[in-house]
Amino acid sequence: MNGDPDRGVILAVDVGGTGLAGGVVDPDGTILSAHTVATERRGRGEGVLRNLLELVTGLADDARMFRLPVRGLGVGVPGAVEEDTGRIGTDIQNIPELANVPLRSVLQEATGLRVAVDNDVNALCLAEWRFGQAQGLRHVAMVAVGTGVGGGLILNGSLVRGASGYAGEIGHITVDMDGRPCFCGSRGCVKAYASGPDLVAQVRELLEAAPSPVWAELTAGDPGRIDPPLLFRAADRGDAVAEAVVAKAAQALGAGVAALVNLCNPEMIILGGGVMEAGEILMEPVRRWAKFYAFERAVGGTRIVRSGLSKQSGILGATALFLYDEHRRHERLGTRHARDAM
Ligand SMILES: [Zn+2]
Repeated sequence: MNGDPDRGVILAVDVGGTGLAGGVVDPDGTILSAHTVATERRGRGEGVLRNLLELVTGLADDARMFRLPVRGLGVGVPGAVEEDTGRIGTDIQNIPELANVPLRSVLQEATGLRVAVDNDVNALCLAEWRFGQAQGLRHVAMVAVGTGVGGGLILNGSLVRGASGYAGEIGHITVDMDGRPCFCGSRGCVKAYASGPDLVAQVRELLEAAPSPVWAELTAGDPGRIDPPLLFRAADRGDAVAEAVVAKAAQALGAGVAALVNLCNPEMIILGGGVMEAGEILMEPVRRWAKFYAFERAVGGTRIVRSGLSKQSGILGATALFLYDEHRRHERLGTRHARDAM
Protein backbone atom coordinates (compact mmCIF):
# COMPACT_ATOMS: atom_id res chain seq x y z
CA MET A 1 0.00 0.00 0.00
CA ASN A 2 1.79 3.11 -1.19
CA GLY A 3 0.39 6.43 0.00
CA ASP A 4 0.04 9.29 -2.42
CA PRO A 5 0.56 12.38 -0.27
CA ASP A 6 -1.31 14.94 -2.38
CA ARG A 7 -4.30 13.35 -4.05
CA GLY A 8 -6.67 10.43 -3.86
CA VAL A 9 -8.98 9.03 -1.20
CA ILE A 10 -8.62 8.63 2.56
CA LEU A 11 -9.03 5.32 4.37
CA ALA A 12 -10.90 6.18 7.58
CA VAL A 13 -11.54 4.00 10.64
CA ASP A 14 -13.57 4.72 13.76
CA VAL A 15 -12.53 2.35 16.56
CA GLY A 16 -15.38 1.69 18.99
CA GLY A 17 -15.87 -0.56 22.00
CA THR A 18 -18.10 -2.97 20.08
CA GLY A 19 -17.20 -2.37 16.44
CA LEU A 20 -14.71 -0.94 13.98
CA ALA A 21 -16.30 1.18 11.24
CA GLY A 22 -14.20 1.86 8.16
CA GLY A 23 -14.72 3.77 4.95
CA VAL A 24 -13.05 4.86 1.72
CA VAL A 25 -13.75 8.58 1.65
CA ASP A 26 -13.32 11.37 -0.87
CA PRO A 27 -11.73 14.57 0.52
CA ASP A 28 -15.14 16.28 0.14
CA GLY A 29 -16.63 13.81 2.65
CA THR A 30 -18.36 11.44 0.21
CA ILE A 31 -18.17 7.90 1.61
CA LEU A 32 -17.46 5.64 -1.39
CA SER A 33 -17.58 2.35 0.52
CA ALA A 34 -18.02 1.38 4.16
CA HIS A 35 -17.47 -1.77 6.23
CA THR A 36 -17.92 -2.71 9.88
CA VAL A 37 -16.32 -5.52 11.86
CA ALA A 38 -16.66 -6.50 15.50
CA THR A 39 -13.94 -5.28 17.87
CA GLU A 40 -12.25 -8.50 18.92
CA ARG A 41 -10.90 -8.16 22.43
CA ARG A 42 -8.28 -10.63 23.47
CA GLY A 43 -4.99 -10.28 25.33
CA ARG A 44 -3.01 -7.10 24.90
CA GLY A 45 -4.73 -5.55 21.91
CA GLU A 46 -3.59 -8.15 19.35
CA GLY A 47 -7.18 -9.11 18.46
CA VAL A 48 -8.25 -5.49 17.96
CA LEU A 49 -5.10 -4.71 15.96
CA ARG A 50 -5.53 -7.75 13.74
CA ASN A 51 -9.14 -6.81 12.97
CA LEU A 52 -8.12 -3.21 12.39
CA LEU A 53 -5.42 -4.26 9.89
CA GLU A 54 -7.81 -6.60 8.08
CA LEU A 55 -10.33 -3.78 7.81
CA VAL A 56 -7.70 -1.36 6.45
CA THR A 57 -6.52 -3.98 3.91
CA GLY A 58 -10.13 -4.41 2.75
CA LEU A 59 -10.53 -0.64 2.39
CA ALA A 60 -7.27 -0.42 0.39
CA ASP A 61 -8.61 -3.20 -1.89
CA ASP A 62 -11.79 -1.14 -2.43
CA ALA A 63 -9.72 1.93 -3.36
CA ARG A 64 -7.75 -0.20 -5.83
CA MET A 65 -11.00 -1.51 -7.31
CA PHE A 66 -12.19 2.10 -7.75
CA ARG A 67 -8.76 2.83 -9.33
CA LEU A 68 -8.22 5.65 -6.84
CA PRO A 69 -4.86 6.39 -5.19
CA VAL A 70 -4.80 6.32 -1.37
CA ARG A 71 -3.71 9.51 0.32
CA GLY A 72 -3.42 8.05 3.81
CA LEU A 73 -5.19 6.56 6.83
CA GLY A 74 -7.09 8.35 9.62
CA VAL A 75 -8.09 6.54 12.83
CA GLY A 76 -10.28 7.80 15.68
CA VAL A 77 -10.06 5.96 19.03
CA PRO A 78 -12.18 6.31 22.21
CA GLY A 79 -9.39 7.63 24.44
CA ALA A 80 -6.64 10.24 24.72
CA VAL A 81 -3.73 10.02 22.24
CA GLU A 82 -0.32 11.65 22.67
CA GLU A 83 0.16 14.03 19.77
CA ASP A 84 3.93 13.62 19.35
CA THR A 85 4.08 9.83 19.51
CA GLY A 86 0.60 8.70 18.42
CA ARG A 87 0.59 6.51 21.53
CA ILE A 88 -2.78 5.74 23.15
CA GLY A 89 -3.11 6.73 26.81
CA THR A 90 -4.07 4.52 29.72
CA ASP A 91 -7.65 5.83 30.11
CA ILE A 92 -9.16 4.02 27.15
CA GLN A 93 -12.07 2.62 29.12
CA ASN A 94 -13.94 0.85 26.31
CA ILE A 95 -10.93 -0.98 24.82
CA PRO A 96 -8.32 -1.29 27.60
CA GLU A 97 -6.38 -3.69 25.34
CA LEU A 98 -5.18 -0.66 23.33
CA ALA A 99 -3.76 1.21 26.35
CA ASN A 100 -0.16 2.35 25.72
CA VAL A 101 -0.11 0.95 22.17
CA PRO A 102 1.87 3.29 19.83
CA LEU A 103 -0.92 2.93 17.28
CA ARG A 104 0.34 5.43 14.71
CA SER A 105 3.75 3.78 14.23
CA VAL A 106 2.24 0.26 14.36
CA LEU A 107 -0.16 1.17 11.54
CA GLN A 108 2.46 3.09 9.56
CA GLU A 109 4.81 0.12 9.62
CA ALA A 110 2.08 -2.35 8.71
CA THR A 111 0.54 -0.34 5.85
CA GLY A 112 3.28 1.97 4.53
CA LEU A 113 0.67 4.75 4.60
CA ARG A 114 0.78 8.14 6.26
CA VAL A 115 -1.34 7.69 9.41
CA ALA A 116 -3.13 10.12 11.69
CA VAL A 117 -4.50 8.84 15.04
CA ASP A 118 -6.43 10.86 17.59
CA ASN A 119 -9.27 10.83 20.07
CA ASP A 120 -12.60 10.11 18.36
CA VAL A 121 -14.31 13.25 19.72
CA ASN A 122 -11.43 15.45 18.53
CA ALA A 123 -12.04 13.76 15.18
CA LEU A 124 -15.80 14.49 15.39
CA CYS A 125 -15.06 18.13 16.17
CA LEU A 126 -12.85 18.29 13.05
CA ALA A 127 -15.63 16.60 11.00
CA GLU A 128 -18.13 19.28 12.10
CA TRP A 129 -15.55 21.92 11.22
CA ARG A 130 -14.75 20.54 7.79
CA PHE A 131 -18.07 18.98 6.68
CA GLY A 132 -20.75 20.09 9.16
CA GLN A 133 -22.30 23.08 10.88
CA ALA A 134 -19.02 24.64 12.06
CA GLN A 135 -17.54 25.30 8.59
CA GLY A 136 -15.74 28.64 8.46
CA LEU A 137 -15.69 29.19 12.27
CA ARG A 138 -12.51 29.59 14.35
CA HIS A 139 -13.63 28.62 17.86
CA VAL A 140 -15.66 25.41 18.11
CA ALA A 141 -16.31 22.86 20.87
CA MET A 142 -17.79 19.39 20.47
CA VAL A 143 -19.43 17.36 23.23
CA ALA A 144 -20.25 13.71 22.49
CA VAL A 145 -22.64 12.08 24.94
CA GLY A 146 -22.77 8.30 24.63
CA THR A 147 -21.08 5.51 26.60
CA GLY A 148 -18.88 8.31 27.93
CA VAL A 149 -18.93 12.08 27.59
CA GLY A 150 -16.10 13.22 25.35
CA GLY A 151 -14.98 16.65 24.23
CA GLY A 152 -13.12 18.26 21.35
CA LEU A 153 -11.91 21.82 21.06
CA ILE A 154 -10.82 24.01 18.16
CA LEU A 155 -9.48 27.43 19.18
CA ASN A 156 -8.04 30.05 16.81
CA GLY A 157 -8.46 27.53 14.00
CA SER A 158 -6.32 24.85 15.70
CA LEU A 159 -7.29 21.62 17.39
CA VAL A 160 -6.31 21.84 21.06
CA ARG A 161 -4.66 18.61 22.21
CA GLY A 162 -2.74 19.66 25.31
CA ALA A 163 0.48 18.22 26.70
CA SER A 164 -0.66 14.59 26.70
CA GLY A 165 -3.87 14.61 24.66
CA TYR A 166 -6.33 15.26 27.49
CA ALA A 167 -7.40 18.80 26.53
CA GLY A 168 -11.13 19.38 26.16
CA GLU A 169 -12.27 16.49 28.39
CA ILE A 170 -15.50 18.25 29.28
CA GLY A 171 -17.06 14.98 30.51
CA HIS A 172 -14.75 15.01 33.51
CA ILE A 173 -15.32 18.59 34.59
CA THR A 174 -16.60 18.43 38.18
CA VAL A 175 -20.13 19.86 38.40
CA ASP A 176 -20.86 18.57 41.92
CA MET A 177 -17.92 18.57 44.34
CA ASP A 178 -19.38 15.77 46.48
CA GLY A 179 -21.29 14.08 43.69
CA ARG A 180 -21.51 10.63 42.13
CA PRO A 181 -18.22 8.73 41.81
CA CYS A 182 -16.78 8.48 38.29
CA PHE A 183 -14.55 5.80 36.70
CA CYS A 184 -11.82 8.44 36.24
CA GLY A 185 -11.31 8.44 40.01
CA SER A 186 -13.04 11.76 40.60
CA ARG A 187 -16.53 12.70 41.77
CA GLY A 188 -19.43 14.67 40.37
CA CYS A 189 -18.14 14.64 36.77
CA VAL A 190 -20.57 15.62 33.98
CA LYS A 191 -20.23 12.03 32.75
CA ALA A 192 -21.46 10.60 36.07
CA TYR A 193 -24.90 12.17 35.38
CA ALA A 194 -25.22 12.29 31.60
CA SER A 195 -23.56 9.27 29.93
CA GLY A 196 -25.81 6.42 28.73
CA PRO A 197 -24.67 3.91 31.41
CA ASP A 198 -24.95 6.58 34.13
CA LEU A 199 -28.49 7.51 33.04
CA VAL A 200 -29.46 3.84 33.37
CA ALA A 201 -27.69 3.51 36.74
CA GLN A 202 -29.55 6.54 38.13
CA VAL A 203 -32.93 5.17 37.02
CA ARG A 204 -32.11 1.85 38.71
CA GLU A 205 -31.07 3.58 41.94
CA LEU A 206 -34.31 5.59 42.08
CA LEU A 207 -36.41 2.49 41.32
CA GLU A 208 -34.65 0.48 44.02
CA ALA A 209 -35.54 3.19 46.54
CA ALA A 210 -39.13 3.50 45.30
CA PRO A 211 -40.40 0.82 42.90
CA SER A 212 -42.75 2.12 40.20
CA PRO A 213 -45.56 0.18 38.51
CA VAL A 214 -45.04 2.28 35.35
CA TRP A 215 -41.43 1.08 35.07
CA ALA A 216 -42.36 -2.50 35.94
CA GLU A 217 -44.66 -2.36 32.92
CA LEU A 218 -42.19 -0.53 30.66
CA THR A 219 -39.49 -3.12 31.30
CA ALA A 220 -41.82 -6.14 31.62
CA GLY A 221 -40.26 -6.62 35.05
CA ASP A 222 -36.70 -6.84 33.67
CA PRO A 223 -34.47 -3.93 34.82
CA GLY A 224 -31.95 -5.10 32.18
CA ARG A 225 -34.23 -3.50 29.59
CA ILE A 226 -33.70 0.01 30.91
CA ASP A 227 -31.81 2.01 28.29
CA PRO A 228 -31.60 5.71 27.30
CA PRO A 229 -34.31 5.54 24.57
CA LEU A 230 -36.74 3.98 27.08
CA LEU A 231 -35.81 6.61 29.66
CA PHE A 232 -36.54 9.48 27.26
CA ARG A 233 -39.85 7.89 26.21
CA ALA A 234 -40.85 7.64 29.87
CA ALA A 235 -39.79 11.25 30.52
CA ASP A 236 -41.82 12.35 27.52
CA ARG A 237 -44.88 10.71 29.10
CA GLY A 238 -44.28 12.59 32.34
CA ASP A 239 -42.91 9.74 34.50
CA ALA A 240 -41.42 11.33 37.64
CA VAL A 241 -38.34 9.04 37.88
CA ALA A 242 -37.45 9.58 34.23
CA GLU A 243 -38.03 13.33 34.48
CA ALA A 244 -35.76 13.57 37.53
CA VAL A 245 -32.91 11.69 35.81
CA VAL A 246 -33.23 13.66 32.56
CA ALA A 247 -33.38 16.95 34.53
CA LYS A 248 -30.18 16.09 36.43
CA ALA A 249 -28.37 15.03 33.23
CA ALA A 250 -29.40 18.24 31.48
CA GLN A 251 -28.28 20.36 34.42
CA ALA A 252 -24.88 18.60 34.51
CA LEU A 253 -24.43 18.99 30.74
CA GLY A 254 -25.56 22.62 30.93
CA ALA A 255 -23.01 23.32 33.68
CA GLY A 256 -20.28 21.62 31.60
CA VAL A 257 -21.26 23.61 28.52
CA ALA A 258 -21.19 26.81 30.63
CA ALA A 259 -17.67 25.92 31.82
CA LEU A 260 -16.62 25.58 28.16
CA VAL A 261 -18.21 28.96 27.39
CA ASN A 262 -16.48 30.72 30.29
CA LEU A 263 -13.13 29.04 29.61
CA CYS A 264 -12.96 29.19 25.80
CA ASN A 265 -15.74 31.52 24.58
CA PRO A 266 -16.44 29.42 21.45
CA GLU A 267 -18.72 30.55 18.60
CA MET A 268 -20.44 27.17 18.51
CA ILE A 269 -20.83 24.18 20.83
CA ILE A 270 -22.09 21.04 19.11
CA LEU A 271 -23.66 18.22 21.11
CA GLY A 272 -23.68 14.79 19.51
CA GLY A 273 -23.51 11.09 20.37
CA GLY A 274 -26.21 8.49 20.97
CA VAL A 275 -27.76 10.10 24.06
CA MET A 276 -28.30 13.42 22.23
CA GLU A 277 -30.52 11.62 19.72
CA ALA A 278 -33.20 12.27 22.36
CA GLY A 279 -33.40 15.74 20.79
CA GLU A 280 -35.10 18.80 22.28
CA ILE A 281 -36.18 17.04 25.50
CA LEU A 282 -32.47 17.28 26.41
CA MET A 283 -31.24 20.19 24.25
CA GLU A 284 -33.77 22.70 25.59
CA PRO A 285 -32.84 22.34 29.31
CA VAL A 286 -29.11 22.08 28.43
CA ARG A 287 -29.31 25.47 26.67
CA ARG A 288 -31.30 26.90 29.59
CA TRP A 289 -28.76 25.73 32.22
CA ALA A 290 -25.81 26.85 30.07
CA LYS A 291 -27.34 30.36 29.98
CA PHE A 292 -27.92 30.20 33.74
CA TYR A 293 -24.33 29.22 34.63
CA ALA A 294 -22.25 31.11 32.00
CA PHE A 295 -21.43 34.78 31.49
CA GLU A 296 -24.43 36.26 29.71
CA ARG A 297 -22.33 38.16 27.15
CA ALA A 298 -20.27 35.05 26.35
CA VAL A 299 -23.11 32.53 26.11
CA GLY A 300 -25.23 35.00 24.13
CA GLY A 301 -22.70 34.72 21.29
CA THR A 302 -22.43 30.93 21.43
CA ARG A 303 -24.66 28.79 19.23
CA ILE A 304 -25.47 25.56 21.13
CA VAL A 305 -26.61 23.05 18.52
CA ARG A 306 -27.13 19.34 18.01
CA SER A 307 -24.88 17.49 15.55
CA GLY A 308 -26.44 17.05 12.13
CA LEU A 309 -23.85 14.56 10.87
CA SER A 310 -25.01 11.10 9.87
CA LYS A 311 -24.58 7.80 11.68
CA GLN A 312 -21.29 7.56 9.79
CA SER A 313 -19.93 10.63 11.57
CA GLY A 314 -17.10 8.52 13.07
CA ILE A 315 -15.81 7.71 9.57
CA LEU A 316 -16.09 11.39 8.57
CA GLY A 317 -14.22 12.24 11.78
CA ALA A 318 -11.31 9.95 10.94
CA THR A 319 -11.25 11.46 7.44
CA ALA A 320 -11.24 15.05 8.74
CA LEU A 321 -8.51 14.06 11.20
CA PHE A 322 -6.23 12.79 8.44
CA LEU A 323 -6.86 15.89 6.30
CA TYR A 324 -6.22 18.20 9.27
CA ASP A 325 -2.92 16.48 10.15
CA GLU A 326 -1.86 16.58 6.49
CA HIS A 327 -2.66 20.29 6.31
CA ARG A 328 -0.65 20.96 9.50
CA ARG A 329 2.30 18.95 8.14
CA HIS A 330 2.27 20.99 4.91
CA GLU A 331 2.11 24.20 6.95
CA ARG A 332 5.15 23.12 9.00
CA LEU A 333 7.08 22.13 5.85
CA GLY A 334 6.13 25.44 4.22
CA THR A 335 7.39 27.35 7.26
CA ARG A 336 10.64 25.38 7.24
CA HIS A 337 11.16 25.97 3.48
CA ALA A 338 10.53 29.68 3.95
CA ARG A 339 13.03 29.73 6.85
CA ASP A 340 15.65 27.79 4.84
CA ALA A 341 15.29 30.26 1.96
CA MET A 342 16.06 33.23 4.20
ZN1 LIG B 1 -14.78 11.57 35.65
